Amino acid sequence: MAEPDSAATKPVLIVGGGWAGLASAVKLSKKGHAVTLLESARQPGGRARRVAFETGTDEKITADNGQHLLIGAYHCILELLDDVGINVQQSLLRQSLNLTLHSLHSNGLKLKTPKLPAPLHLLFALLTARGLSMPDRTAALRFGLALFRGTLFTETDMSVAKLLRQQKQTGRLVDAFWEPLCLAMLNTPLQEASATVFLRVLSDAFLRQRRDADLLFPRQDLGALFPEPAMHYIEQRGGHVHLGMRVSSLKIENGEICGVHVDDTFIPAQQLVLATSVHATLALIQGQDELAQLHSKLAQFHFQPVTTVYLQYPPEVQLSQPMQGLIDGCGEWLFDRRHSNQPGMIAVVISSHGPHMDESKDKLGNRIATELARLFPRWPAPKAQFVIREKRATFSSCVNINQLRPENHTPVKGLWLAGDYTNNGYPATLEGAVRSGVQCAALIDNETR
Ligand SMILES: Cc1cc2nc3c(=O)[nH]c(=O)nc-3n(C[C@H](O)[C@H](O)[C@H](O)COP(=O)(O)OP(=O)(O)OC[C@H]3O[C@@H](n4cnc5c(N)ncnc54)[C@H](O)[C@@H]3O)c2cc1C
Repeated sequence: MAEPDSAATKPVLIVGGGWAGLASAVKLSKKGHAVTLLESARQPGGRARRVAFETGTDEKITADNGQHLLIGAYHCILELLDDVGINVQQSLLRQSLNLTLHSLHSNGLKLKTPKLPAPLHLLFALLTARGLSMPDRTAALRFGLALFRGTLFTETDMSVAKLLRQQKQTGRLVDAFWEPLCLAMLNTPLQEASATVFLRVLSDAFLRQRRDADLLFPRQDLGALFPEPAMHYIEQRGGHVHLGMRVSSLKIENGEICGVHVDDTFIPAQQLVLATSVHATLALIQGQDELAQLHSKLAQFHFQPVTTVYLQYPPEVQLSQPMQGLIDGCGEWLFDRRHSNQPGMIAVVISSHGPHMDESKDKLGNRIATELARLFPRWPAPKAQFVIREKRATFSSCVNINQLRPENHTPVKGLWLAGDYTNNGYPATLEGAVRSGVQCAALIDNETR
C-alpha cells in the first residue's frame, strides 16, 4: 500500500459521501490529510448506491438506485478505483461500442465499431450502420467529420436539436440515434440539451483513443464498486466516515468557515468540502451573505428524473449484448444484469420526464414487461418487478448550463464545493462528480501546504 506523500497536513471536513465527496476524501487521505466525512444517509454513494427491494418473503433483492453505465473516457474514475485497490479489469466489464437499438414499429439500428484507431472507428461505424439509408449515413458521416475537425464548437451555446438541424441530420438519424444518445449522455431532451456539453462528451469518447468509446458495466452493485472500498481506504489511513449524520447548518464568521452543526453538536473545521447535491447545497448556504451570488446561480438549476424498472426473469433469459436500446418504446435502454451476478434480471432505464412519471409502479412495470414480450416473444413472463424513480437524478444539462456552474473555491475562506454540478465540463455523471472531487482535493492540498 502506497504511503502518504508527506506527514499529516491540515485536517479537512467533508460533508456528503457521494462519489464526489468520497473522491475528495480518498485523494486527501492519500496526501496525508486527516479527513472526516459526514454523510446523512445510512450508506455511502449518494445518487449511485446499492438499494434493497422487498420481495414479500424474507429474502431481499439488492440492485442499484438506478442502472449506471460508464465509458472508457472516464479516466478519472478508473484512476480512483485503482487508488482504492480495486482491480478495474475484474470489477468492470469492458466492451467495444457495439449497439443494437430495437424498434417496436419499424426497423432497428445496428452500429459496430471496428478495430481501427480513433476517429476512424467512429466514421467507419457510421458508414456501415445497419438500419440507415444512404442519406442518413452521409449526414452522420458529415457530422463525424465536423466533430473531428473541431468546426462544431461555437462561442455561444445552442440546443443539441438546433445543432443537429444546422448539420442537416435526417429525421431518422435524429430519432434512432441522436435522441437516444443525448438522453443517455445528458439525461436532457434534445430541444433543451446544451450542444457544448454534448460535444464535450462526444469528443472525449470518440476523438482520442478507440478504448475511450468502450462501454463499461459494473460487475457488482454500485456500493461495492467504489463507495465501500473508498470508506475502507479512508479509515485505514486514520480518517473517519460517519454515516447517518446530517449537517443542519454551516457556521461562517468574518468570511471564513468555522465549522458545521449536526443537530446541537458543533464540529469545528478550517477546511470544509461541501460535497452535497445542488438541492442540499442550496439549503445549507441559504441566508449566508457571502454566498448570495452562488445561491442565485444554483437556484436556476433544473433537474431531470431517471426511472429504472427491474424485471426478474428465469436465469436463462439473457440479452445478446450487455446493453441494448429501444427507439420507440417507453423503455429506452435494456441492461442484462447477469454481468453483475444477477442472471435473469433485466434493468430497463427511462430517462427524463414523460407520461411514465405519472403511472403507478405496477402499471409501469407491466407496460415495460409487455414491450419486452413484443421484442423477445420467447421469453417467459417476469417473476417479479421493481421500479425505482429518482426524481432529481441529474441536473438538466440545458443550454448555457456551464455559465451557472461554480468553481470548487468559494468566496468564503476554507469553504470548497465538490459535486457533479461544479464547472467540470461534463454532464451530471459519475466522472463529473469524481473529477470535481479530485480537483477540489488538489486545490486544498496546494493551498494548505
Ligand atoms: C438513477 C440514476 C441513474 C444515473 N445514471 C448514470 C449513468 O449511467 N452514468 C453516470 O455516469 N452517471 C449517472 N447518474 C448520475 C450520477 O449518479 C451522479 O452524477 C453522481 O452520483 C453525483 O455524485 P455527487 O457526489 O456529485 O452527488 P450525490 O451523489 O448527490 O452526493 C451528495 C451526498 O451528500 C449527502 N448529503 C446531502 N445533504 C447532506 C447533509 N446536509 N449532511 C450530510 N450529507 C448530506 C447525500 O446523502 C449524498 O450522499 C445517474 C444518477 C441516477 C440517480
